Parts: sequence; C-alpha cells; structure tokens
Amino acid sequence: MNLPSNVEILRLLSDAFGPSGHEDDVREHVSQLIEPFVDDIRTDALGNLIATRKGTSDKVLMLDAHTDEVGIIVRYIDDKGFLRFAKIGGWDDRLFAGHRVTLRTAKGKFYYGVIGMPPPHITEGDKKAIAAEDYFIDIGAKSRREAERRGVGVGDVGTLAYPFSEIAKGVYIGKAFDDRAGCVLLIATLAALASGKVRTPLTVKANFATSEEVGLRGARVAAFGIAPDVALALEGTIGADFPGIAPEKCICSLGAGPAISVMDRTMVFPRRMTDFLVACAKAAKVPCQIKMPAIGGTDAGAIHQSRAGVLTGAIAVPCRYIHGPNSLLLWKDFESSLALTFQAVRRIHTLIE
Ligand SMILES: [Zn+2]
Repeated sequence: MNLPSNVEILRLLSDAFGPSGHEDDVREHVSQLIEPFVDDIRTDALGNLIATRKGTSDKVLMLDAHTDEVGIIVRYIDDKGFLRFAKIGGWDDRLFAGHRVTLRTAKGKFYYGVIGMPPPHITEGDKKAIAAEDYFIDIGAKSRREAERRGVGVGDVGTLAYPFSEIAKGVYIGKAFDDRAGCVLLIATLAALASGKVRTPLTVKANFATSEEVGLRGARVAAFGIAPDVALALEGTIGADFPGIAPEKCICSLGAGPAISVMDRTMVFPRRMTDFLVACAKAAKVPCQIKMPAIGGTDAGAIHQSRAGVLTGAIAVPCRYIHGPNSLLLWKDFESSLALTFQAVRRIHTLIE
C-alpha cells in the first residue's frame, strides 16, 4: 500500500480547509486515505466520518479526532467592499491584525484577503485592543456590488491560512495542528491495525469528528450512534513552554511526549484510565506528561457522557500556538504520541473485560 508518510499526511490535512461545520475538504482527504484499512465508512448527518474495523469481539473501542479548526465567518459587507466577520471557535481578538485569510464562497470558490489595520504612523497614542467585530477584511473590492459579483457573501467561512513548513529538522509549523495532528494519529492507527502491527480483539470505530471547536457537537452525536464500551480522544493540545508563561501556567511542554488528560473543563478522567495510559507510555518506552488540569477540553468530554456513560481517555500531541495561524510541533512528540496510542489500543480491552 502506497500511503504517504505521516509528515506528508499532516501537511495535506493541516493545509486543508475546515472551519467548524465546513470540514468537507478534510473529510474527503481522510476518507481516501483510510479506505484501504477499514471494513466500512459512512458519514452521518452532522458530517462525522465514521469508519469501522471489525474485531473478534462485539465490544467497541471508539477512537476520535476532530477534523474542524477554528475559523471566521463573514457577517456583513459594507458599501466600500470591506468584510466584517465573526469568530468560529475560541480566538484571542488581538491575534487577527494584519493576517492573511482564505475564504470560500457559497459555490466553493476560494478567495483571499488581508485583515486590515492602520499603520503606526496614524495610530500613535491610540493602542487600545480591537474586538473581533471591529476588524475588517480587505479583499481588494471597490464596493459591495463588486464583492457580490465575485460570489462573496454573508455566511462565507474562512481561516487564517499559512502553509505547512519544516522550519528545522523535525520541527513543523502549520495552521491546524489542533486537531489535524490527532487525525494523523488516528489514520496511522488504522493503518497499523490493517497491517497487523497493532492488534486488538475489539471492534474499532474511528470517528473523524466535526464541530469540536464550537462545543464538541460532532463527537456527541457520533458517540450516541457508535455506543462504545471504551473510547480515546486524540488531540493536539496547548504546549505553553515559551517566554512569558510562568511554570505554574505551562499546560504542557514540547519535547516531553504525549500529554495525558486527568481533568479539563469538560471532564474528570477516571484514575484507572489515566494510570493505564501512563503505564502504556512506559511499556512503549516513550516519555509522557500529565496535562495541567482544569484547562481546555476535548471530545472526551462529550463521549464520556454519552448514553449510560463511557470509559474515556485523552492523548494529545503538544503543539504551541494553537488557535492561531501557525502552530508548532516537534515530530518526536508526534512519534511518541503514536507509540502511546498503539500501545493503548493493544491493551485497552483489558479495561473492559
Ligand atoms: Zn482540538
């Protein structure tokens, strides 16, 4: 099988367009990549891509990674052709100034613009923060009519888009490692199950989830449909080991291996699940770290509350600057996260026997 390398898959998926609710590009790529490895693929009403690998047991392991990324949506076009936007998902409003945006029309045509900002020559003494709704996107149109003639309209969605790049050996930057890094973990796990490198008696249901960034919406309904016995959410999370962050606020660090969740804003993880994942990292001979509790959230938060409750864990690749246009990760963290995921999939049936 001629699967591209995991780096190439991360490039493909990070560069793909997929603000929450508009994940079709990502879904299409993932679907083509996993097709040789699974018995069945379907897309549900909310756009979740659900793939099944039948095991010898009827018990079900759900593996989840979300396909959406934070984005923006056009909410108004003024007479001069400038676009106003609203946020899709969690953004720091300070971040928008001066960035390039890629947007898509209702008909699926991409167009580009810049989030305008007056230069310092005329803002001296006026340094107050700007709210997202006060920024504007300049698409080089002279009027609303011209913008509309190009197919631009209220409701178009976009991203702050920069290409995936290797900036030093094993160091990558790209726009959507949250959570395309998790998607690559999941694709590589399906490939390893197909090749026999990873074996489990469980039936594996892989959910490439939609709309995580706007409230775990895809995973919630997918978990109901899948009715798993045990689940793992695979993520890209908040690496915060950089200047200006006090050690007691450093959620996790790059180079220290996968981050294992014990508690976030959506879930308190069962001790036996976190102990299990730490033991799996040890067995796989890779480092791991406990993600600082009480911050952020993952699809695990929705999955564990599904139906009568699901034993759920979360593994994440540390990525700096998520929810920005350029996140950064170390490939060695990806590799150790993958080794932990493999080991967890091999042994997780022992938790539900
Ligand atoms: Zn995420």
